[in-house]
Amino acid sequence: MKASILSIGSELTRGEIVDTNAPWLAQRLTALGFEVDGVTTVPDDEGRIRDALTALGAQHRVVIATGGLGPTGDDVTVAAAARAAGVEVTRDATAMEGVRRRFQMLGKTLNPLAERLADVPAGSEVLGNPSGLAPAFRVRVGEAECFFLPGVPAEAERIFDELVTRRIGALATPRSYQIVLRTYGLGESAVADRLVGLEAQVSGLTVGYRVRSPEVDVKLLVRSEDRSTARALAERAAREARARLGDVVFGTDDEAFAAVVGRALRHRSTTLAIAESCTGGLIGAMLTAVPGSSEFLLLDAVVYANAAKERVLRVPAEVLLGHGAVSEECVRAMADGARRIADATMAVAVSGIAGPSGGSPEKPVGTVFLALSTERGTEVIARRFAGDRASVQRQAAYAALAMVRRACVGPVETLQTSVCG
Ligand code: ATP
Ligand code: MG
Repeated sequence: MKASILSIGSELTRGEIVDTNAPWLAQRLTALGFEVDGVTTVPDDEGRIRDALTALGAQHRVVIATGGLGPTGDDVTVAAAARAAGVEVTRDATAMEGVRRRFQMLGKTLNPLAERLADVPAGSEVLGNPSGLAPAFRVRVGEAECFFLPGVPAEAERIFDELVTRRIGALATPRSYQIVLRTYGLGESAVADRLVGLEAQVSGLTVGYRVRSPEVDVKLLVRSEDRSTARALAERAAREARARLGDVVFGTDDEAFAAVVGRALRHRSTTLAIAESCTGGLIGAMLTAVPGSSEFLLLDAVVYANAAKERVLRVPAEVLLGHGAVSEECVRAMADGARRIADATMAVAVSGIAGPSGGSPEKPVGTVFLALSTERGTEVIARRFAGDRASVQRQAAYAALAMVRRACVGPVETLQTSVCG
């Protein structure tokens, strides 16, 4: 069943904001079993919105529109929807009640302009808005059930999940199933190389890739005669892909890398200390973004200056003088120091040159040393990351978390140094 998305707003067409509603909605609709065949973007222009709706309504069963539901003069979606549906605009009692309640809750008095929020095309079903003012509604345009949601992403997303999904579920023909494998550790082409021939092995399978550096998502989409067959085939494809990719696959669908690392730490009842220089707290931020990190994370020391490395982590002055802060010896001492001070079972340390300046012929921008200290020894690796400052920092943080993950899953390789490009 075909569905389409209409993004309304002059902010979008002028390029002032990026449309995040459309991709979010497209993913949801696809997951429900709709074939999303396009995204249309129009400015806050009554005629343009009406024409777009009329065209979309002739060819789809479901249209999801966002934006332009506010009470101000620049929001003209309601009037355009009414014209496309061939009805008048009316003030809806249910919507009015919702708006009144919302104003009361916020301790504000209702004004005539705000009352316009309760205007909808006659004959529409008012869905309301559990987290905002402008109520969502549904109205028929041509062949399509058209849903109008507010532009604010959080409001639109909640309304879609809580109120739209169950109204359109029956219209979907879910004949497909998708599993997303989340990977870290190989580039896109290396991942694709390992999966050569997989599509031929599983009928109806399409393999897609999405790079969210340094992660690569592998999307395994199977279309079949019905959803349960598609699901069984997608699961088969996922098993085969996992066998080929090994521990490069860290999770599925919405699992974050840091959440997987945190889980591994909790499983092993391992406690962690972090010593960060060039990542400036990023590793700790990634771990603490996931609830429950206090169960394993004891310390995150951001030791930027050499003096701080010396005083906080007891990195010997000779190490800093003799080898510099970006060195195997320094990260080793940072990791050992952090582990000792926090009395943690494991510590990871990072020091590198994030750029854009500060590089040298021996240690160019992107050079990062990482160390992992456990009671069995301290492992150091040297890496050279490409990209701008933010990208080097991100890659370094991932590499540090990967060391932690590997140490939790398998035995720590002791005292080895490797340099990879
Ligand atoms: P409001 O009652 O808040 O005015 P509205 O339905 O009229 O809601 P708009 O005025 O179109 O919505 O947009 C409100 C805000 O929501 C915009 O300023 C923008 O920040 C955000 N927004 C709107 N459309 C999108 C979109 N497609 N993607 C991301 N953000 C959006
Ligand atoms: Mg608005």
